[in-house]
Amino acid sequence: MPAPFIYSASPGRVVFGPGKLASVGTEIEALGCRRALVLSTEFQRPDADALAASLGGMAAGTFTEAAMHTPVSVTEKAMTVYKESGADCVVALGGGSTIGLGKAISWRNNAPQIVVATTYAGSEVTDILGQTENGRKTTVRDPKIRPETVIYDPDLTLGLPVAMSVSSGLNAMAHAVEGLYAPDANPVTSLMAVEGLRALKSALPRIVAAPEDRDARAEALYGSWLCGIVLGSVAMSLHHKLCHTLGGGFDMPHAETHAILIPHTAAYNATAAADRLSRAAELFGGDLGGGLWDFASSIGAPLALADLGLKDSDLAKAADMAVENPYQNPREVTRDGILDLLTRAHTGQRPVTS
Ligand code: NAD
Repeated sequence: MPAPFIYSASPGRVVFGPGKLASVGTEIEALGCRRALVLSTEFQRPDADALAASLGGMAAGTFTEAAMHTPVSVTEKAMTVYKESGADCVVALGGGSTIGLGKAISWRNNAPQIVVATTYAGSEVTDILGQTENGRKTTVRDPKIRPETVIYDPDLTLGLPVAMSVSSGLNAMAHAVEGLYAPDANPVTSLMAVEGLRALKSALPRIVAAPEDRDARAEALYGSWLCGIVLGSVAMSLHHKLCHTLGGGFDMPHAETHAILIPHTAAYNATAAADRLSRAAELFGGDLGGGLWDFASSIGAPLALADLGLKDSDLAKAADMAVENPYQNPREVTRDGILDLLTRAHTGQRPVTS
């Protein structure tokens, strides 16, 4: 018998398939809008320019300064450009950084959002916005942050570098693992989590072997969508808290930190949440933490926090920060337990389920 649960469907329209970038104009009209400001990072500026050119009069211009962790200073600049351009919606073309900028604009002025997602981070289907100001990252959760329309065009991911594909894919898988033992998990999010894990486990090794494998790219994007919905539907625990601590406190890169930590946090919770993790564990040979580490290692993922620049001397401080505010987690979060976990992850050791 299922445990009692509450299920709220995640709203939003999803358009999925190769070549679907061409449907941005139709989707702008479907929202009742007329002119979009196209957003991207500086790196993806050529793609943003090409999209704006293809939209013709439906493009109000481009803003290509999106940056990691959504700095408020960049958002304020973009707000001015948005107002002066006469736009009535935004199109965010890119990964979590660009999507974060679109959300930050929309949260302030209610602009409808269309997202064309080009990584596996999953932000496009969540109601979460992280922003940085004066060196501090804060997070807001509000239903109006969730984009109205998401376009997934696997063709746009063919050039996502392999290293980024691997880290971003493991970032998505981390959403699914934590979603399985969330206190507010429900049968639908759990189905999505297991299917998302299966799809990414199947797709990532094929992408490593052949980065332009269109089927593998489509399957990875499909998996990341499912994992993103899980992230946007339930509360996160130890894993996301640790990544937040390392990202905010030690300037560690987002996707790579997730990729390194997920085998370790899964092992930490494996016994306490054994029932809820059983279907995920089956996918990875029965031992979720060790199996995830073997999988990550086999696809060339980063394994050691030391390689990302975290110092020995940072570990104790990181453990202190991670246990500062108590938060829900299947297994009690102790300073010694976290220090042990971080020490193994720091040197790239295979996790031990305890
Ligand atoms: P990113 O958006 O920072 O992208 C990294 C780099 O890759 C950028 O230069 C980008 O332009 C480039 N890139 C993106 N797609 C590409 C493609 N297909 N081909 C070639 N280059 C491409 O990276 P990310 O990991 O997607 O996002 C990280 C950010 O997203 C962090 O700030 C994180 O906090 C946030 N995030 C938020 C949520 C949420 O729900 N709020 C969820 C996940 C991540």
